[in-house]
Formats: sequence, C-alpha cells, structure tokens
Amino acid sequence: MAGEPQADCLFCKIVAGEVPATLVRETETTVAFRDINPQAPTHVLVIPKAHYPDVASLAAAAPQLAADVAKEAGRVAAEDGAEAYRLVFNTGSAAGQTVFHVHGHVLAGRGLQWPPG
Ligand code: AMP
Ligand code: ZN
Repeated sequence: MAGEPQADCLFCKIVAGEVPATLVRETETTVAFRDINPQAPTHVLVIPKAHYPDVASLAAAAPQLAADVAKEAGRVAAEDGAEAYRLVFNTGSAAGQTVFHVHGHVLAGRGLQWPPG
C-alpha cells in the first residue's frame, strides 16, 4: 500500500533505525540526515518517514507530507546557516535517482551553478 515501509528500501531502514545515519532533524513525519557522499558543505537529505518512490507520487497521495518535506528543507538550510540553497529531487534513474524513496537534496555552502548539470 502507498506509504507503507518497503523491506528492501535503504531509507525505510534509516527511518526504522536499522541502518545508521547522521540525523540532523526529525519530526513526526520526516527525517533529515547528512548525505554519505556529500556534494557540497551542506548536503542533507530530507525524507518523509512514509515510503513514496518520488516527489510527484508523494505530492499526489499526501500533499501535506510533501509540504512537510519542503518546510524541513528550509529549516535544515537555516540551521546550517545557509542564506541560499538548492532543493533537488532527482526523479528517475536517467536523472540520477538511485534510491526510490523520495528524498530532497538540500545543497548549500558553495557556489551553485545555474543551469545545473
Ligand atoms: P539519488 O541519487 O538522488 O537517489 O540520491 C541518493 C543519495 O543517497 C546519494 O546522494 C547517496 O550519496 C545517498 N546515500 C546513499 N546511501 C546513504 C546512506 N546510507 N546514508 C546517507 N546517504 C546515503
Ligand atoms: Zn522507503
């Protein structure tokens, strides 16, 4: 069922505490943790605790939860002292998505090129 934990999902395991992560924030509905392979001084992943494969399916099924993720991204950036940041949701393997539990990448602390690669 949509939103239910998936046994083979790395980020569901982080939510369950079965895989360690460097947590930076947690709410009733979301978790934020540092990316294991950071691409910027601030590189934090914000996820809903519930499993949805990508941001569009999250927003369609649970719009308030999508809003929670976006709000948390702003808080993460603010707590890292970032005035500006980029919030990226890679969607689909051709766009670089490797973990199919929706996650927003909060990137900050260096110059961020536009357009992105
Ligand atoms: P994406 O490629 O957009 O699906 O992003 C997945 C991200 O998860 C990558 O930036 C990885 O570095 C990161 N990642 C993979 N495993 C872990 C982990 N155990 N803890 C934290 N970040 C991870
Ligand atoms: Zn999951």
